[in-house]
Amino acid sequence: MTALELIGLVNQVLFIGLFVAVLVAALRRPTRTRLDAVLLFGSAASVVVLGRIAAWLGFAGDHWLQSVTLVLLNLAPLAMLRLVDDFSESPRWVQTAGLVAFVAIGVLGFVLPLTNDAVLLATMAFLVVVGGYAAFAFARQSRVTRGITSRRMTAVTVGAAAFVAALFAVFLGALNPDVAQVSAPTAQLLALLAVSAFFLGFTPPRWVRLVWRDPDVRRFLERSTQIIGVADDYAALSQMQAAAADAFGANGAVIGVAVPERGTLRYAARSGWEEYADDRYVGGRAFTDRRRVVVLDSAAFDPDNVDDYRRVGARTVIATPIEAEGQPLGVLTVFADRAPIFAEDDLWLLDLLASHTGVLLEARALSARASELRAREDAARLKEEFISAAAHDLRTPLTVVLGQAELLQRRVLRRPSEPADPTSIGRIVREAHRLRDLVTELLDSQRLEESSAVLRFERIDLREVVEAVVERHREYGTSVEADIAPLELTVDADAGRLEQVIENLVENALKYGGDTAPSVRAWTEDGLVLVSVVDHGIGIPEPERERVFERFFRASNAHSITDTGIGLGLYICRRIVEAHGGRIWFEQTAGGGSTFLLSVPTAPERIEASEVATEPAAPDTPPTDPTWNPTPALSTDPAHADA
Ligand code: ADP
Repeated sequence: MTALELIGLVNQVLFIGLFVAVLVAALRRPTRTRLDAVLLFGSAASVVVLGRIAAWLGFAGDHWLQSVTLVLLNLAPLAMLRLVDDFSESPRWVQTAGLVAFVAIGVLGFVLPLTNDAVLLATMAFLVVVGGYAAFAFARQSRVTRGITSRRMTAVTVGAAAFVAALFAVFLGALNPDVAQVSAPTAQLLALLAVSAFFLGFTPPRWVRLVWRDPDVRRFLERSTQIIGVADDYAALSQMQAAAADAFGANGAVIGVAVPERGTLRYAARSGWEEYADDRYVGGRAFTDRRRVVVLDSAAFDPDNVDDYRRVGARTVIATPIEAEGQPLGVLTVFADRAPIFAEDDLWLLDLLASHTGVLLEARALSARASELRAREDAARLKEEFISAAAHDLRTPLTVVLGQAELLQRRVLRRPSEPADPTSIGRIVREAHRLRDLVTELLDSQRLEESSAVLRFERIDLREVVEAVVERHREYGTSVEADIAPLELTVDADAGRLEQVIENLVENALKYGGDTAPSVRAWTEDGLVLVSVVDHGIGIPEPERERVFERFFRASNAHSITDTGIGLGLYICRRIVEAHGGRIWFEQTAGGGSTFLLSVPTAPERIEASEVATEPAAPDTPPTDPTWNPTPALSTDPAHADA
């Protein structure tokens, strides 16, 4: 036996084996795709068997036999054409034209001798056009599908192209015996390539499937571990869905998360959350029955929701329940607009994805519960800090006030005619002021935290506010330098609150700023009004800078300057500036010290009254409305007005 004969024999065995494999699969579960695969490989296998029997019985040259063989051979491209339609939509006329051509050539084959050039040329044209079209359509399908489906489709493409080329070579040899020397071995080699590729495409062995699946599963696992950290539930679920669809090579996937108290499933749909009764759709069925459901035609299975399935392109739907520790958590549904291209035995992957999704959902629920606990702990800690800070800081001035007042009392009782000591009275007044300021700070921070502070917005010139702060300090004899742009710095703001912010920054600069006078600057830039307060004092140690606007934060070097202060001032400043749609931040002063900056948006140009005389002002023109509040965080309800 020559090598060529051996290859021929191997080809024949393989084609028969392939036929048997697809036949068994079709008998187990007859789908259109499987039946068309039986047609394709049945034609090849029957040509082989018929040839063997004819050779054995000695009527290989019989015209009828040859005509039947021709019909069987042409059946292969026709079956490919049908497979194209199974895998992707193909125009009806293409199918019809293919069938007409097939019948015509068949008839021709019976009427004319097979050696007739017309028959051979017609067959070759049929092969090239129909087989070529099918191979092209498979290739296109392999590009638009993903994952293992795409890989299997590529194998089918190679198989189809090689198969058509092999048949073409056979007919070329028949048409022109001169090339038979080359065409015969070429045909055998191409047939070997075709049958091997078809094997991989239609009945890939388990290990090939695993190898092909591996990158997708790996990618799914990698993506899913990142998903645990995604804070937003909607984003996390959407990402999980995309990862599942990719891993499965499906058009899309949805995860329904059970909401037991409402008896619903919640889906992260493209347009936002959607919630349905937990028995709705194929997914609902799988969830309530707690078993996997495979639906090849959703319209026939669930006609009530046919429009919804059509909208998302879900003709074939496979759903599997998601469980963790025996508890139903939801359902994973993957869908495609065509019946699954290949065997449904890839369902194990769906189960794997579902159980992994279950683990992910559990992990997310746990971490959500953990952060809820942490938030509660934080709140409790803050309250404690608040109370101890309040107690500590109120105690010191109170002790002074009480001590001085008792001293005065004793003196008055002892010597009623003597005038009161002005130093003691001065101390009492100073400490009482401190007390009031502290209480105000504490209350303020609490209100801002609870979002019940009221802001009164109006159009103001921030320059005047800054100047007022600087002036006041100068009147008290503290030197503060000022560099204020000689322009109107118009903003829509609560003047009192912004003054409080600037005052606080200047006071801090005086407190922590050493001997050099702090300087205040105000200017406008890029639609913003900016204010900076610069000092050359102790500054803030590098690692602590990002915490400077936190509640109760005091830098580690603050105690070297003073023990008064509870670290609420800057926190209050931040809340106020943010409520104005602005920003406040810290920078180190060149040469050492602190620079605090704040920016608030410049007020939009106001339209002159004459220009709007004919048109009443829109009710939602916010900046001119004194009760308008840019953030819902701070209420404008006068009922909550500050005392
Ligand atoms: P406090 O009442 O402690 O001054 P603040 O909220 O105003 O509270 O400031 C918080 C902390 O930020 C201060 O304790 C201090 O450590 C630091 N800090 C604020 N302003 C300055 C500044 N100009 N220079 C250096 N450190 C500052």
